[in-house]
Parts: sequence; C-alpha cells; structure tokens
Amino acid sequence: LSTWSAVPAGPPDPILGVSEAFKADQDSKKINLGVGAYRDGNGKPYVLSSVKKAEEYLSAANPDKEYLPISGLPEFTKAAAKLAYGGDSAPLSANSVAVVQSISGTGALRIGGAFFQRFFPHAKTIYIPNPSWGNHTSVFRDSGLEVKQYRYFDKKTVGLDFEGMKADLKSMPANSLVLLHACAHNPTGVDPTPEQWVELSDIVAEKSLFPFFDMAYQGFASGDFTRDAFGVRHFVSAGHQVALSQSFAKNMGLYGERVGAFSLVAADEEEKKRLESQLKIVIRPMYSNPPLHGARIASTILNNAELYKEWEGEVKGMADRIISMRERLYDNLVSLNTPGQWGHIKSQIGIFTGLTTPQTKVLAEKAHIYMTADGRISMAGLNSHNIDYFSESVSKAVK
Ligand code: PLP
Repeated sequence: LSTWSAVPAGPPDPILGVSEAFKADQDSKKINLGVGAYRDGNGKPYVLSSVKKAEEYLSAANPDKEYLPISGLPEFTKAAAKLAYGGDSAPLSANSVAVVQSISGTGALRIGGAFFQRFFPHAKTIYIPNPSWGNHTSVFRDSGLEVKQYRYFDKKTVGLDFEGMKADLKSMPANSLVLLHACAHNPTGVDPTPEQWVELSDIVAEKSLFPFFDMAYQGFASGDFTRDAFGVRHFVSAGHQVALSQSFAKNMGLYGERVGAFSLVAADEEEKKRLESQLKIVIRPMYSNPPLHGARIASTILNNAELYKEWEGEVKGMADRIISMRERLYDNLVSLNTPGQWGHIKSQIGIFTGLTTPQTKVLAEKAHIYMTADGRISMAGLNSHNIDYFSESVSKAVK
C-alpha cells in the first residue's frame, strides 16, 4: 500500500481549466478571456521595451549570480517603496519604512501573513472583501490567519456596496486586520473613489483597524502611478501604519520573473530596524533569499530616469488599450440593442469586468469564448480583431 493512498485528488485550478478548454477548441474565432495577464493588440503576450532595454544593460554589465541578501536587492526595494508611497512620503523621509523584496505579489502577501501571524498583537483574523482575488483566502489561511469577509460588491448596481462596506468595517472588533485592494479590485474592477478612500481612512482610524494594502496593479488601472496609489498614500498621510504588498507582474509585465515587495510603515527608524530583522527571520526558512534577475530589471528601470519615463509611457499604453476596449465593448453592446445596463463596463477599472454565470456557459458552448465560471472577463484578451465578434456573441447570449 502506498504511503499516499489516502491523499485525495484536489480540485483543478479554476483558471487553468479554462485555458485547457481553450487550447482544445479548434475554432479560429476562439477567444480566451480567462487569463489575468495583459495581451497586446494582437492577443500576444507583451514584453515591454523598457524591460528589454534593461535586460540589454544588464547583459552588457555582465553581473555575477551571487545570492541576494535575505531582504533582497536594496536599490530595488528602495525604489519600489518610493513608487508606492511617493517621493515626498513622510515615513520614507524619516527612514521608517521596513521593506523586503518578495516573490511577486503573492509572496509579499505570504510574508505579510506569516509576519502578522507571528507578531500582530491582536486577533489573528484578516478581513478580505467579498469577493476578492481567489488566492487571498488560501494565502492567509496557510499563513495561519483566520479569514473573514466584509461586504464590497453590490450585484444590483454592479458597483461598490459602500454603505455595506462601511457598516461592516464599523462592526468589526477594534484592532481588526483588514485587507484592502489598493486599485483595480480583482475580480470586480470596482474601486472606492478618492472621497470614499478618505471616509474609509477615517473609519479605520476610529475603529483602530489595521490596513493591509494589496497593490498588484499600480499604474495599470488608470495609467498613472500617483492616481492609482491614492488610497495607500492617503492612509499613510493620515497617519496609518499600513502594511503593503506590491507586485511588478502586471505593470512591468514581469509575471514569471516574480518581482515584488512587502513593506510595513514603522513608528520610527529604530522600530523599522526591528521589523526588518524579523521579516528576515520570516523569509530565511521559507526560501532563504529572493530571485535576482527580475529585481535587477525592475531596479534598472526604476533608477534610470530615461527608462522610467519610457516605462511610464508603456504602462499608460497598456491601461489606455484596455480603457479603449471597454469603450468599444460598451458602444457595441448599446448599438446592438443588447438588453440590460452596460455602463459598468466603462466605469470599471483595471483588466477585469463581469458577466453572469449562465451567460458565460452559453458563450463557451456556442461562441468559443472562454472565461472563468464566475463570469470574470479579462479585458486584456479583447482587441480590434475580436471585439466585434465578442460583442455580437454577448448580445446574442443575453437576448
Ligand atoms: N493580488 C491580486 C489582487 C492579484 O490580482 C494578483 C494577481 O493576479 C496578485 C495579488 C499576485 O500576483 P503575483 O504573485 O503574480 O504578483
């Protein structure tokens, strides 16, 4: 008898299943809207020109392959924190932000989860929005935290359930840990407005909640790094000691390079040093030290004025392409007299938007269009070649 005979088969990954069904489909009209990665105007993966140039610089410099420090490449972590918090951020000027490199956004959340599990002096429960990125629950549970939800999305208005969200924050026990999507909420594409962020910050202060921001899409939402960081920066300027997870997967297209950062705003420099020493103790037995190449690419771009400028333009280009697809999809659906309200397609932010589950099934079965079972569409999979076919198919599925 095998040692593993009692191990049950786990459920398949819901997103990978979509890609498999897509691959098996032989129809030339097929569209894959399941993946959360950016695609260019021809539906192809996109390597940014700023990234290619950074790689050329690196290759010319012929650097060694020694281990990085446990906390990562210092030029990278410093620049990453500046991108998120802003050059004029008070805690950065005071040198009171503890920051470590992470294995992209997921790894940052995992380091954060483990740190909170070990050191958060209050209940080891994290509240995440309903719905949230599918992996949040697993990451935090595996870190040893209990996961609960707060209201976030209003199906009726296809917008933010702001009243529900506020009521839930207000009824949480004092000192609760709350996860907030910094921008381009996944999977709903619905974000608080700047005014709503201000209100949320006030409630978080009143209830002494602890904000943990997940920023996986800075720049990717609006095309503007500063605008997308409004929530984080407002909370910090209001005096909150935030935790922050950053990913460079989407905004630099560095998905498989696994580039990210985790940071904590400390009270002062002395506290920052204590936090950093403990973050290193969390990281060391997990994976010893982070990967080198992606952090070097990101660091080269972030620390070179010319490359940074080019990168900014490319991020804006990606965001604008998605925004233009949203506009075109909306216009098409309206001009095809598609029953229903479609304004949310234009108002939502980032790469995701939603259809309902029965519509999803019809599209997959009849029109060779693939998306996750909850009806989440990656707008990045749409382009000028397939948007009309997609709009007509949606319109038919709804009628
Ligand atoms: N957080 C959110 C909300 C996401 O959507 C994602 C990726 O889809 C991540 C974190 C982490 O991604 P990665 O680990 O590739 O940086």
